[in-house]
Parts: sequence; C-alpha cells; structure tokens
Amino acid sequence: MTQNYNPQDIDKKWQHRWATDRLHEVKEDSGRPQFYALTMFPYTSGDLHIGHWYTMAPSDVYARFKRMQGYNVLHPMGFDAFGLPAENAAINHGIHPYDWTMRNIENMRRQLKSMGAMYDWSREVITCLPEYYRWTQWFFLKLYNAGLAYRAEAAVNWCPRCQTVLANEQVVGEGCCDRCGTTVTRKALEQWFFRITRYAEELLDYTGLDWPERTKTMQRNWIGKSEGAEISFRLQGTGTEPQEIRVFTTRPDTIFGVTFFLLAPENPLVAQLTAPERKAEVDEYIAWCRQQAEYERLALGREKTGVFLGSYVINPLSGEQVPIWITDYVLPTYGTGAVMAVPAHDERDFEFARKFQLPVKTVIAPPDWAGEELDEAYIGTGTMVNSGNFNGLASEQGYESICALLEKEGWGKRTVIYRLRDWLISRQRYWGAPIPVVHCQKCGIVPVPEDDLPILLPPDAEFKPTGESPLKYSQGFVNTACPGCGGPAQRETDTMDSFVCSSWYFLRYTSPETMDAPFDDARVKHWLPVDLYTGGAEHAVMHLFYARFFTKALRDIGLIEFDEPFTRLFNQGIIVYGGGKMSKSKGNVISPDDYVAECGADAVRGYLMFIGPWELGGEWNDSGLVGISRWLNRVWSLVTADYRPSDGTASDGEHEREFRHMLHKTIKKVAGDLEKLRFNTMLASLMELTNYLSKVKEAGAVPDSLWREATHTLLLLLAPTAPHLAEELWAKTGHTYSVHNQAWPEYDEELALEEEITLAIQVNGKLRDKVVVPASITEAEARELALGRERVKVHIDGKKLRDVIYVPKRVVNIVLAQ
Ligand SMILES: [Zn+2]
Ligand SMILES: [Zn+2]
Repeated sequence: MTQNYNPQDIDKKWQHRWATDRLHEVKEDSGRPQFYALTMFPYTSGDLHIGHWYTMAPSDVYARFKRMQGYNVLHPMGFDAFGLPAENAAINHGIHPYDWTMRNIENMRRQLKSMGAMYDWSREVITCLPEYYRWTQWFFLKLYNAGLAYRAEAAVNWCPRCQTVLANEQVVGEGCCDRCGTTVTRKALEQWFFRITRYAEELLDYTGLDWPERTKTMQRNWIGKSEGAEISFRLQGTGTEPQEIRVFTTRPDTIFGVTFFLLAPENPLVAQLTAPERKAEVDEYIAWCRQQAEYERLALGREKTGVFLGSYVINPLSGEQVPIWITDYVLPTYGTGAVMAVPAHDERDFEFARKFQLPVKTVIAPPDWAGEELDEAYIGTGTMVNSGNFNGLASEQGYESICALLEKEGWGKRTVIYRLRDWLISRQRYWGAPIPVVHCQKCGIVPVPEDDLPILLPPDAEFKPTGESPLKYSQGFVNTACPGCGGPAQRETDTMDSFVCSSWYFLRYTSPETMDAPFDDARVKHWLPVDLYTGGAEHAVMHLFYARFFTKALRDIGLIEFDEPFTRLFNQGIIVYGGGKMSKSKGNVISPDDYVAECGADAVRGYLMFIGPWELGGEWNDSGLVGISRWLNRVWSLVTADYRPSDGTASDGEHEREFRHMLHKTIKKVAGDLEKLRFNTMLASLMELTNYLSKVKEAGAVPDSLWREATHTLLLLLAPTAPHLAEELWAKTGHTYSVHNQAWPEYDEELALEEEITLAIQVNGKLRDKVVVPASITEAEARELALGRERVKVHIDGKKLRDVIYVPKRVVNIVLAQ
C-alpha cells in the first residue's frame, strides 16, 4: 500500500471535502462547551506574507486542538477593510478603493484557504461593506447619545503627506506618521472624539485577564496615571477674573522651592497676563511654538526656550512673588497647562533656570548635602529644608502634611491625573465609515436617525488629497434635509478611524447574518468574551486598547454584559528574513504561496511552529522548511508501510512497557505544550516519537495491535498541526472520516510517568544551581530552564552570553563573554 506522499493533491482534495461537508461550520446548540478562539483579522493590504501565516497557523492549531478536546470552537476570519492604503492606491493607481480592497480580499481569502485553517467562512465579516459599517455608524450614535462622542476644536497631529489627522497612537518614532513616515505637524481643527478618558481608571484594571505583562505595561504607560495635588496660585494685581491659576504637581512637598511659574503658550490666560511692553516678544514666541511637534517639545535635553510675561503669581505657602513665563515644554493638554517650576528638583525646570538665570532653591536635601548649590536637579526624596514650618520632615511625610494644609486652607486638594487623551476618531479621508451626523444652521449638530442608516459612501467621490474630506466635494452626499427641522443641512464629511470598525468585529462574528441589530444578543452571550485572542504586540495601545474601551462603553450603554473583550491574550513574535523585519520596501517579503505549492500547507504550518517559541518569532530559512517536509514524509512512510512483528514479540513485556510509556508520555507532553502555546517543543516531542516508532518498526518489537494503536494515536496528535496529512493517513489506515471529528487521545498518568534526572547548571564552569527535570528534557528546554533560574540569572545579569553548552542529561554550562 505504499505510495508517495503528494501534499499538493492531498491539500486540495481535503480542503474541498471539508468545505463541501461544512465540517467547520459552527452552530451554537451543539451541547458542547463553547470556546472562542480569535486571531486578529488582517488588514486588506494585498498579499498575505509569511508573517500573516505566523499569526494564523499556530492559532488554528490551537483551535483544532480545543475542538478535538470536545469544545464547540468558534474560529472565524474576516477583513479589516477600511483605511488609508486603499485610498492611497486609488490616488496612485487610479483604482477605486472598493475595487482595490475587494480584489485584495479575494486573493487573501484564497491564500487563507490554502493554509487549511478551520475558519468558519460562513461567518466572514468585511468592515467596508454597508451591512457592516451600518452598525459601526449605529454604535457611533449610541456613543453620541451616551455623551461618549463629542466634537471639539483641537490641536491635532497632521500628516502633510497623507493630508489627514492622525491619532496620537498613529504618531510613531520621532513624531512620524505610522503610514508614510512623514514628520507630523500640528493643526487646529474641529474634530470628533470618543471619551476614552472616562475609562482611564478602569482600563488600568486587568483583574481576571491572562495578558502578557509587556502589553499591560504599555497600556499602563499610555494611560499615564499620576497622583499628586492640585494647587491654586493667586494672580498678583490683575483685579479681573480669574484671580488664580491652578497647577497639578506630583511633588507638593517641593512647593517652597518654586522660583518661577510656567504656562503652556496655548493657555488661554496668556493674553490677559502679558504686560503691554512684553506683548511683541510673547506673540512672536507663540507663533514659533505652533510650528513645533509635540515630541520635540517634550524631548529631554532640548534647549529650553521661553518668554517672561511680565506678571506674577503668589505662592500660597511661602507668600513669595513668582514670575510667570511661557514655555513650549508645558503642554496645554497635560494637567491644567500650568506648572509650578521647582528647578532644584525637576530636570527640565533646572535647565530652564540655568538658561534664563532664574534662582534655584533647594528644599529637599539630598543625602550628605551641606547647603551647597546643586549641579543638577535632585529628584529623589530627602529631608525638607528652606520650607518654613515643614523643615526637618521627611519629604514623604511633608507631602502628606502639605496636602492636609492645602485642603484645610482651601488652597488645593489631592488629585489624580492621566496622560491619556480622548480618542480622536475623525479622518479627513474617503475610505472609512461616514460619521452619521448632519450640520444644520438652525439646530446645530443633529444625529442621523437610526432608521436612516447606513449613510452610504458615494461611489463617485474625488480622491485628490486636499486636506479636506473628499466627501466635501460630493454634492449629492453633502446636501440633505435636517432630521430635526426639515430645512436644508449638510452631512458631516469626515469618516471614522478604521480602529473604530475593528473595535467591535469580534461581536459581529457571532451572528453576521443579523440584519436588524449589530449582533444577536443571545449569541454574543453564548460566545463572549473571547477565550483566546492572538495577534501582534504592536497593537497594544491601539486596537487592543480601543477594543477594551469599546466593550466597557457598550456595557454601560446596556448592549452587552461583560467588562473585557479578551480573556486570554497572546502576542506572537515576528518572522524575520535576511536579518530584518519583512517589508515591501526592503524587498525581503516571503510569500507563502510558492512554498505551499512546493511542500504543501502542512509543511509550512509545521515549519512556522518549529522556528522558535511563538512569542519570540525567528528567522525564516528554506532549509528548515525542507527539514519539516522530510519529517512529514517519514511519517507518511511509517504509517503507510506494512508492519511485521518479529517472532516472539507477543511475550516481550519489557518492550511493550517501554512502548506504552513512550506513547503516553508523548500524549501528555503534546497536550501540555499545546495548552501553553509551545508549538516548537510540541513538535519536537512528536518528532521524537516518530524516531522511536521507526526503530520499533525495524525491529518489529511490539505486536501488531499495539503498533496500530501507536500510529492511530500519532495521527490524532498530528491532526491539528498537519490537518491534510493526518486526514489522508487516517483514511488510508481504514478509519472513518474525519480525523478532525475524533476525540483528543487520553493518557494514562502512570504510564506517562517520567524518569527524572538532576541537571547541573554552571556559569563559566562553576556550579551555580541544580534542578530535577524529566529525563526526556530537550536541549532547547534545558537551555531555557537554565537561563531562567534565579540563582543563575544573578551571575549572568548584564553580561554578554557567548555560548550555552549542553551535555545531555547532565550539565548546562553557560559561557559568558569575559
Ligand atoms: Zn502620512
Ligand atoms: Zn435643523
């Protein structure tokens, strides 16, 4: 019955059969526990490269594993289809964004199907289609009515090349547009915002979530919570309102060290507080500041600039008169746009004082301080000096005492502020969901009635980037009747950031056919929250953050009942090639198509999982793929060849015991690794099993029945990784279709029990630790274990690793560069 392994035929044959049989369509009423395994849907940029597969293939393996474990698994796929690149293609190549996008989707869908993933294609969602964006618009109205969407003038990030506003999250690196790399400038415009800041505190809470620390830290930093005090400084001698300015400080304990006072140039009080003789200089400075990007303004070490306004505030504690300056490193959006400057204890204030020869007054004594002038700001804690009644207190204690005094005298209060700003969601571009409001001369902003949705994108808009939305020039779109008074009115011509579309797509997968609501309530209740969400870490402060906000907002509006969209999150690493991240501009993009055509989908899937731990990624290497392909060929030969037990095997209990141990140990290991998403070590143990089976086969060491049990188990263990090969061999060995409907094999704990060994861990030849491990530990596992031991880490901390030498079952020696 031998016949060559021919993946090309097998792939097509089974993909066709699975589709015809609707093997992977999911119904809610299965009687099995549900599991929602979600992979971030791809942006419709064109071809899928191998990096997409790296996101998708391992998560498909996990979804298949859960399915075999008896879960009813929802594993859907769709397309994030609105956004700038489609429009840029329209401008550059004269293709309509819709055509460009749909053509790309067709190609990407073909590629995804060639991977043999178990996506339920009947649930596909495409965000640029009216049946989808109708509901994106509907959510906008819900947020608007709940006070969570508003319009305001704002100094916004503006990309001069893309001719659009960008969210803060889309300004990357040194203040560049994340789409085109152009340096972003600032511009004051009327914009739409979502009030994400209302959820700042709740977004800091990850209770019950299994998320990577790194991602949580990025989000926490993005929210930027600071605790401190808000303090009022009286304005000297203005005689007009207001009579005071409030500042936020994280260090109220340094208030006696205030020697000048700073306002953002944009602060509305600046004009009023500018003395007539200072006006020309102040105006000139403000005009100059407008040209500066935010990242430049905040850069440490940047030469300090500023202008004295010619007016003063009074320090409420010391009674001292303090001059007011404006400077660009105070941002209008942080705190109150005003700062009490304490040059002795703040680096930027220190630089500012040096530049303009303002006094520096030490009020927190550094250790061993003898009253000398400071060479640099001292930002630590210490004993309070030059601070009136507070002298001699520890600064932490002074913090509390000063806050108490401020509150008692009504001069201020303890407070918390956040760095997070509201989410700017309007875009002056065509290819997005139109914002469903109307501007009426009489009624102002009027939301479009829900029944009038969707507000369709007119197909005939002009795409030339002018800095204004292309929809402005589409007369048929703009001119409408006011839903309030019936008079003539204009539609809003901005569209929504495509991150709004992707903030709720995981809800739509549960019931994409629902026409009268964004989703079916019962089905969302059934499936959500998502059990496992996988995708790139680059989305930490964008998509992953927005989706959490959106979920909480919908909960408060009463549309859903859970607090968080994604219970477990896993961020995979990146596949690099030729030493760098793949990108079209570098020309090092690997397309999966050729490799699939040559080696079959299973080999490409397997190789991606074998390349390294999933969270780390790795370097693509053709010969590695060939290795996996060879291994699959060996599995083919092993299972299809005739097995002949040698005489007398029936009575050989020793071989049988070893054989069963090997089998059950592998089942345990594969299941354990899959649960932890450790695909590389899972495959290593499957390879070990096949090597073992090859030897057993040559010797004919076990009875036929046991051999058949082993190959049967091997196919089940292999099914998630190599779904086509496993299905073909399952059929060839006389089993009934389909291997993917089989239960995951159980193991016997007793039989799986491992022999244990003690591994010595050395650093530069010196014994530093010992650890008891299963005898079957692989080299990769031993290395990882050794490098992660606390007692070893202290010896390698900060030093360069030169080599790790593994003596199997005995020693790991970590060699450091001297
Ligand atoms: Zn740009
Ligand atoms: Zn009206």
